[in-house]
Amino acid sequence: MKYKAPRGTRDILPEDSWKWRRVETAFRETADGFGYREIRVPIFEETDLFARGIGDSTDIVRKEMYTFEDRKGRSLTLRPEGTAGVVRSFIEHSMGRGGRLTKVHYFGPMFRYERPQAGRYRQFWQWGLEAIGSTNPAVDAEIIHFSISLHDRLGLTGAEARINSAGCPTCTPAYNELLRKELAPKLDGFCSDCRVRYERNPRRMFDCKNETCLAILASAPSILSSLCEECASHFEQVKALLGGAKLKFTIDESMARGLDYYTKTIFEVHHPGLGAQSALCGGGRYDELVEELGGDATPACGVSGGVDRLIIVLEEQGLFDEEEPGPDVYVATVGDEAEALGAALVARLRGDRSVETDYRGRSLKAQMKEAGKLRARVCVIVGEDELARGVAVVRDMETRGQDDVPLDDVPAAVGRLLERAEG
Ligand code: AMP
Repeated sequence: MKYKAPRGTRDILPEDSWKWRRVETAFRETADGFGYREIRVPIFEETDLFARGIGDSTDIVRKEMYTFEDRKGRSLTLRPEGTAGVVRSFIEHSMGRGGRLTKVHYFGPMFRYERPQAGRYRQFWQWGLEAIGSTNPAVDAEIIHFSISLHDRLGLTGAEARINSAGCPTCTPAYNELLRKELAPKLDGFCSDCRVRYERNPRRMFDCKNETCLAILASAPSILSSLCEECASHFEQVKALLGGAKLKFTIDESMARGLDYYTKTIFEVHHPGLGAQSALCGGGRYDELVEELGGDATPACGVSGGVDRLIIVLEEQGLFDEEEPGPDVYVATVGDEAEALGAALVARLRGDRSVETDYRGRSLKAQMKEAGKLRARVCVIVGEDELARGVAVVRDMETRGQDDVPLDDVPAAVGRLLERAEG
C-alpha cells in the first residue's frame, strides 16, 4: 500500500468514533456544570509562544515540537498543549478586564514528537480547563473536583488525585540549590538528559522517564519542606478544601509536571488500569505565565487530560460494552414504486430521527438482516402488498410485535414506539 497514516497518528474509524463522542459530550456537560465556557484557539501558534510559555528546558520544547516555517519564513509550531494558546488569547482579547475571573474549556488535538507506544501518540487529543484571574485555593480545589467528576460521570471508578506543590519564584531557588547539593555526589548515576537538567533546572529531573534516575531521586529532599510561608499555607488550604469535599487524594512529593509554568499546586489524576502511563490528566496553578507571555500579572490554574488514554481505560473497564447506538428506524422496501414511497418516508422521518435504508435494491430478507445488524429499533416495511393497501408494516425490533399502519400515520406510529422504548 502506498500511503499510511504518519507514524504516531491514527484514524478514528466509525466503529470507534461514537466512543469519542460520548467522552466529548460528558466533558462538555461537566464543564458546563462547573461554569467553564468553550474557547477555540488555533492549532498552530508562533513558535516563541510555546518556547517561552512551556519553558526552554522542558522535553516538549527541546525535543518534541512540530515546528515549521510558513511561506513568509515565520516560525510556527503545531500546539503541543492547550494552555499557552488560551493564555495568548486571554491577553490578546483583554479578557481579564475589571478583574474578571475567566473560566474556559477546550477539546482538540495536540502534537508532540514522542516515541509512539501504547497510550502515547504524536497526534493525541486533550480536554482542558483554564480558570484565569484568582489566587483562591478554592479554584485549585474546583479544578481537581472537576477532574474527578468527569471520570465519575463516565462511570470510571477508582480514579485518584495525587497532589504536590511546585513552589513559587520565592521558594524554588533555595530548593534548586538544595537539590543540586544533595544530588551532586550521585550525578554519575543519572542519564545524560538528567545531567543537563541538573545544570539548567534540577527539578526537571523528577520528570525523567528513566527508572534508574527515578530510583536515585526517591531519596531526594521534598519540595514540601522548602516551601515559603505563602505556598505552604496555600497547599494546606487546598488539602483542607479537598478533604471538606470528601475527595480522595494522596500527596506525591516526587511529582513534577513536564511544563515549566507551574507554581504552587500541581496535581494528576491516575487510574490503576493504565500501568506505567497511568496519568489520565494533570494540571495545576500557573501564577506567573500570563505576565511571562506579556499580559498583566494574573494568577491562574488549569488542567488537561488525555482523551486517547481515557478511552483505553474505559474500554478496559468494560464501560463501552453496550454497543454503538444504532439508528432509530430502518425503512425496507420491495419494488420500484415502494422504493420511491420509501424515499419520501425516509425524508419525513429524518426530521427528528436517525433513519437508515437500503440503496442497493436487495431482497427484503437481506434488508431485514441489515436492520438487525445495525440494531435499528423500529423497522418500516413497504412491499407490493402493503402498497396496494396503502399501508406500511411498522415493526418493533425488540418485542417483534408489528402492525399495519396507514402511510400517513407512519411517523406518529414510529414516534410512539420509540418513545415507549426510550421511556
Ligand atoms: P501534559 O500536557 O504533558 O500535562 O499531559 C496531560 C495529559 O495528556 C496526560 O496526562 C496524558 O493523559 C495526555 N498525554 C500527554 N502526552 C500524550 C501523548 N503523546 N499521547 C497521548 N496522550 C498524551
